[in-house]
Amino acid sequence: MNARMPTIFFGHGNPMNALYDNDWTRGWAALGQHLPRPRAVLAVSAHWYLPGTAVTAMAAPRTIHDFGGFPRELFEVQYPAPGDLGLAGRVRELLRPLEVRADLSWGLDHGTWSVLRHVYPDADVPVVQLSIDESQPPAFHYELGRRLRALRDEDVLLIGSGDVVHNLHAYAWGRHPAEPFDWALRFERLARELMVQGDHPSLMNYERLGRDAELSIPTPDHYLPLLYVLGASHEGEPVTFPIEGMDGGSISMLSAQFG
Ligand code: ZN
Repeated sequence: MNARMPTIFFGHGNPMNALYDNDWTRGWAALGQHLPRPRAVLAVSAHWYLPGTAVTAMAAPRTIHDFGGFPRELFEVQYPAPGDLGLAGRVRELLRPLEVRADLSWGLDHGTWSVLRHVYPDADVPVVQLSIDESQPPAFHYELGRRLRALRDEDVLLIGSGDVVHNLHAYAWGRHPAEPFDWALRFERLARELMVQGDHPSLMNYERLGRDAELSIPTPDHYLPLLYVLGASHEGEPVTFPIEGMDGGSISMLSAQFG
Protein backbone atom coordinates (compact mmCIF):
# COMPACT_ATOMS: atom_id res chain seq x y z
CA MET A 1 0.00 0.00 0.00
CA ASN A 2 1.19 3.49 -0.76
CA ALA A 3 2.09 5.84 2.03
CA ARG A 4 -0.45 8.62 2.39
CA MET A 5 0.66 11.92 0.88
CA PRO A 6 0.34 15.10 2.93
CA THR A 7 -1.98 17.87 1.78
CA ILE A 8 -0.65 21.42 1.85
CA PHE A 9 -2.00 24.94 1.64
CA PHE A 10 0.53 27.43 0.26
CA GLY A 11 0.40 31.17 0.78
CA HIS A 12 1.79 32.25 -2.63
CA GLY A 13 1.83 36.03 -2.14
CA ASN A 14 3.36 38.29 -4.75
CA PRO A 15 3.82 36.68 -8.20
CA MET A 16 7.46 37.85 -8.07
CA ASN A 17 8.11 35.06 -5.59
CA ALA A 18 8.37 32.89 -8.70
CA LEU A 19 11.72 34.61 -9.35
CA TYR A 20 12.81 35.51 -5.84
CA ASP A 21 15.21 33.66 -3.61
CA ASN A 22 13.90 34.47 -0.13
CA ASP A 23 12.96 32.67 3.06
CA TRP A 24 9.57 31.74 1.65
CA THR A 25 10.80 30.35 -1.64
CA ARG A 26 13.61 28.49 0.12
CA GLY A 27 10.96 27.00 2.39
CA TRP A 28 9.02 25.82 -0.68
CA ALA A 29 12.16 24.30 -2.17
CA ALA A 30 12.92 22.50 1.10
CA LEU A 31 9.44 20.96 1.04
CA GLY A 32 10.08 19.63 -2.44
CA GLN A 33 13.26 18.00 -1.23
CA HIS A 34 11.81 16.43 1.88
CA LEU A 35 8.26 15.42 0.95
CA PRO A 36 7.62 11.94 -0.38
CA ARG A 37 7.65 12.27 -4.14
CA PRO A 38 4.11 12.27 -5.59
CA ARG A 39 3.15 10.80 -8.94
CA ALA A 40 1.17 14.00 -9.63
CA VAL A 41 -0.01 17.27 -8.09
CA LEU A 42 -3.63 18.41 -7.99
CA ALA A 43 -3.64 22.18 -7.44
CA VAL A 44 -6.54 24.41 -6.42
CA SER A 45 -5.39 27.95 -7.24
CA ALA A 46 -7.01 31.21 -6.18
CA HIS A 47 -6.50 32.41 -9.72
CA TRP A 48 -8.86 29.98 -11.41
CA TYR A 49 -12.02 31.37 -9.89
CA LEU A 50 -15.07 31.32 -12.10
CA PRO A 51 -18.58 29.91 -12.30
CA GLY A 52 -18.42 26.13 -12.43
CA THR A 53 -15.97 23.42 -11.52
CA ALA A 54 -13.44 22.43 -14.16
CA VAL A 55 -10.31 20.33 -14.27
CA THR A 56 -7.43 20.81 -16.67
CA ALA A 57 -7.43 17.91 -19.09
CA MET A 58 -4.55 18.51 -21.45
CA ALA A 59 -1.32 16.55 -21.87
CA ALA A 60 0.82 19.70 -21.88
CA PRO A 61 -0.83 22.57 -19.96
CA ARG A 62 0.45 25.99 -20.97
CA THR A 63 2.02 28.43 -18.52
CA ILE A 64 -0.45 31.28 -18.00
CA HIS A 65 0.84 34.73 -17.10
CA ASP A 66 -2.35 35.97 -15.49
CA PHE A 67 -1.20 39.35 -14.18
CA GLY A 68 -0.17 42.76 -15.43
CA GLY A 69 2.45 45.34 -14.54
CA PHE A 70 5.28 42.97 -13.72
CA PRO A 71 8.77 42.77 -15.26
CA ARG A 72 9.27 40.96 -18.56
CA GLU A 73 11.33 38.34 -16.81
CA LEU A 74 8.19 37.13 -15.02
CA PHE A 75 6.27 36.88 -18.30
CA GLU A 76 9.08 34.76 -19.70
CA VAL A 77 8.80 32.11 -17.01
CA GLN A 78 7.70 28.76 -18.36
CA TYR A 79 6.71 25.85 -16.19
CA PRO A 80 6.42 22.95 -18.60
CA ALA A 81 5.12 20.28 -16.21
CA PRO A 82 3.06 17.69 -18.06
CA GLY A 83 -0.65 17.25 -17.37
CA ASP A 84 -2.19 13.98 -16.29
CA LEU A 85 -5.31 12.90 -18.14
CA GLY A 86 -5.75 9.90 -15.87
CA LEU A 87 -5.80 12.11 -12.79
CA ALA A 88 -8.21 14.56 -14.45
CA GLY A 89 -10.55 11.63 -15.09
CA ARG A 90 -10.16 10.36 -11.53
CA VAL A 91 -11.05 13.82 -10.16
CA ARG A 92 -14.22 13.89 -12.26
CA GLU A 93 -15.08 10.42 -11.01
CA LEU A 94 -14.52 11.29 -7.35
CA LEU A 95 -16.63 14.44 -7.61
CA ARG A 96 -19.61 12.78 -9.33
CA PRO A 97 -22.51 13.54 -9.49
CA LEU A 98 -21.09 17.07 -9.63
CA GLU A 99 -20.56 18.06 -13.25
CA VAL A 100 -16.85 18.77 -13.68
CA ARG A 101 -15.90 20.22 -17.03
CA ALA A 102 -12.82 18.77 -18.72
CA ASP A 103 -10.99 21.97 -19.59
CA LEU A 104 -8.77 22.34 -22.64
CA SER A 105 -8.15 26.10 -22.53
CA TRP A 106 -6.73 27.06 -19.12
CA GLY A 107 -3.40 25.59 -18.05
CA LEU A 108 -1.21 26.41 -15.08
CA ASP A 109 -1.69 29.88 -13.60
CA HIS A 110 0.78 31.72 -11.40
CA GLY A 111 -0.96 30.57 -8.22
CA THR A 112 0.34 27.15 -9.14
CA TRP A 113 3.61 27.72 -10.96
CA SER A 114 5.03 30.54 -8.82
CA VAL A 115 5.14 27.98 -5.99
CA LEU A 116 5.81 24.73 -7.86
CA ARG A 117 8.72 26.29 -9.70
CA HIS A 118 10.49 26.18 -6.33
CA VAL A 119 9.01 22.94 -5.01
CA TYR A 120 9.70 20.94 -8.18
CA PRO A 121 12.13 23.10 -10.19
CA ASP A 122 12.57 20.47 -12.89
CA ALA A 123 8.81 20.55 -13.69
CA ASP A 124 8.93 16.76 -13.82
CA VAL A 125 5.87 16.05 -11.67
CA PRO A 126 2.60 16.14 -13.67
CA VAL A 127 0.20 18.89 -12.58
CA VAL A 128 -3.58 19.14 -12.87
CA GLN A 129 -5.56 22.20 -11.76
CA LEU A 130 -9.08 22.29 -10.37
CA SER A 131 -11.08 25.50 -10.63
CA ILE A 132 -12.93 27.17 -7.77
CA ASP A 133 -16.64 27.67 -8.45
CA GLU A 134 -17.21 31.29 -7.42
CA SER A 135 -20.98 30.76 -7.21
CA GLN A 136 -20.76 28.20 -4.39
CA PRO A 137 -20.67 28.69 -0.60
CA PRO A 138 -17.65 27.74 1.56
CA ALA A 139 -19.16 24.39 2.63
CA PHE A 140 -19.22 23.28 -1.02
CA HIS A 141 -15.47 23.77 -1.35
CA TYR A 142 -14.78 21.95 1.90
CA GLU A 143 -16.93 19.04 0.71
CA LEU A 144 -15.02 18.84 -2.58
CA GLY A 145 -11.79 18.63 -0.59
CA ARG A 146 -13.34 15.80 1.41
CA ARG A 147 -14.26 13.89 -1.74
CA LEU A 148 -10.79 14.38 -3.18
CA ARG A 149 -9.12 13.14 -0.01
CA ALA A 150 -8.86 9.63 -1.45
CA LEU A 151 -6.21 10.94 -3.84
CA ARG A 152 -3.80 11.25 -0.96
CA ASP A 153 -3.71 7.45 -0.84
CA GLU A 154 -3.03 7.32 -4.56
CA ASP A 155 0.30 9.15 -4.49
CA VAL A 156 -1.23 12.51 -5.41
CA LEU A 157 -0.18 15.70 -3.64
CA LEU A 158 -3.28 17.85 -3.19
CA ILE A 159 -2.38 21.51 -2.75
CA GLY A 160 -4.30 24.73 -2.28
CA SER A 161 -2.62 27.97 -3.32
CA GLY A 162 -3.93 31.29 -2.04
CA ASP A 163 -3.34 33.44 1.04
CA VAL A 164 -5.02 33.21 4.44
CA VAL A 165 -4.77 37.01 4.60
CA HIS A 166 -4.95 38.77 1.23
CA ASN A 167 -5.74 42.47 1.15
CA LEU A 168 -4.18 44.10 -1.91
CA HIS A 169 -5.72 47.45 -1.08
CA ALA A 170 -3.53 47.62 2.02
CA TYR A 171 -0.49 45.90 0.45
CA ALA A 172 2.69 47.98 0.31
CA TRP A 173 3.88 46.67 -3.11
CA GLY A 174 7.51 47.01 -2.03
CA ARG A 175 7.26 50.79 -1.76
CA HIS A 176 8.58 50.69 1.76
CA PRO A 177 9.25 48.04 4.38
CA ALA A 178 5.84 47.39 5.83
CA GLU A 179 4.99 46.31 9.34
CA PRO A 180 2.16 43.80 9.33
CA PHE A 181 -1.22 45.27 10.16
CA ASP A 182 -2.59 44.29 13.56
CA TRP A 183 -5.79 42.90 12.05
CA ALA A 184 -3.77 40.76 9.63
CA LEU A 185 -1.65 39.28 12.41
CA ARG A 186 -4.67 38.70 14.61
CA PHE A 187 -6.63 36.94 11.89
CA GLU A 188 -3.69 34.79 10.84
CA ARG A 189 -3.14 33.79 14.47
CA LEU A 190 -6.82 32.92 14.84
CA ALA A 191 -6.78 30.85 11.64
CA ARG A 192 -3.73 28.95 12.90
CA GLU A 193 -5.34 28.28 16.26
CA LEU A 194 -8.53 27.04 14.62
CA MET A 195 -6.50 24.72 12.39
CA VAL A 196 -4.58 23.35 15.38
CA GLN A 197 -7.85 22.79 17.23
CA GLY A 198 -9.41 21.16 14.17
CA ASP A 199 -12.25 23.68 14.27
CA HIS A 200 -13.11 23.48 10.61
CA PRO A 201 -16.68 24.78 10.97
CA SER A 202 -15.36 28.12 12.26
CA LEU A 203 -12.81 28.30 9.43
CA MET A 204 -15.55 27.50 6.93
CA ASN A 205 -17.86 30.15 8.37
CA TYR A 206 -15.17 32.81 8.24
CA GLU A 207 -17.76 35.48 7.51
CA ARG A 208 -18.80 35.16 11.14
CA LEU A 209 -15.28 35.80 12.45
CA GLY A 210 -15.68 39.57 12.58
CA ARG A 211 -13.86 42.64 11.37
CA ASP A 212 -10.38 41.09 11.21
CA ALA A 213 -11.69 38.38 8.88
CA GLU A 214 -13.49 40.99 6.76
CA LEU A 215 -10.26 42.92 6.25
CA SER A 216 -8.20 39.76 5.70
CA ILE A 217 -10.63 38.19 3.23
CA PRO A 218 -12.11 41.09 1.24
CA THR A 219 -12.88 38.58 -1.53
CA PRO A 220 -13.03 34.79 -1.03
CA ASP A 221 -10.75 33.69 -3.92
CA HIS A 222 -7.47 33.49 -1.98
CA TYR A 223 -9.03 31.97 1.13
CA LEU A 224 -11.12 29.20 -0.43
CA PRO A 225 -8.16 27.00 -1.50
CA LEU A 226 -7.55 26.48 2.23
CA LEU A 227 -10.97 24.85 2.55
CA TYR A 228 -10.05 22.17 0.01
CA VAL A 229 -6.97 21.31 2.06
CA LEU A 230 -8.94 21.27 5.31
CA GLY A 231 -11.51 19.03 3.66
CA ALA A 232 -8.77 16.68 2.53
CA SER A 233 -7.29 16.38 6.02
CA HIS A 234 -8.19 13.53 8.36
CA GLU A 235 -9.71 14.00 11.78
CA GLY A 236 -7.01 14.54 14.38
CA GLU A 237 -4.28 14.76 11.75
CA PRO A 238 -1.59 17.11 13.03
CA VAL A 239 -1.02 20.39 11.21
CA THR A 240 2.35 22.07 10.84
CA PHE A 241 3.21 25.48 9.42
CA PRO A 242 6.42 24.98 7.44
CA ILE A 243 6.45 28.52 6.00
CA GLU A 244 5.28 31.65 7.77
CA GLY A 245 5.48 35.41 7.63
CA MET A 246 3.59 38.44 6.40
CA ASP A 247 4.46 40.28 3.19
CA GLY A 248 3.80 43.95 2.52
CA GLY A 249 1.77 44.30 5.70
CA SER A 250 -1.34 42.52 4.47
CA ILE A 251 -0.49 39.23 2.72
CA SER A 252 0.04 36.12 4.78
CA MET A 253 2.65 33.71 3.46
CA LEU A 254 1.55 31.00 5.86
CA SER A 255 1.67 27.43 4.63
CA ALA A 256 -0.28 24.72 6.43
CA GLN A 257 0.60 21.06 6.03
CA PHE A 258 -1.52 18.14 7.15
CA GLY A 259 0.19 14.75 7.29
ZN1 ZN B 1 -2.65 35.38 -5.83
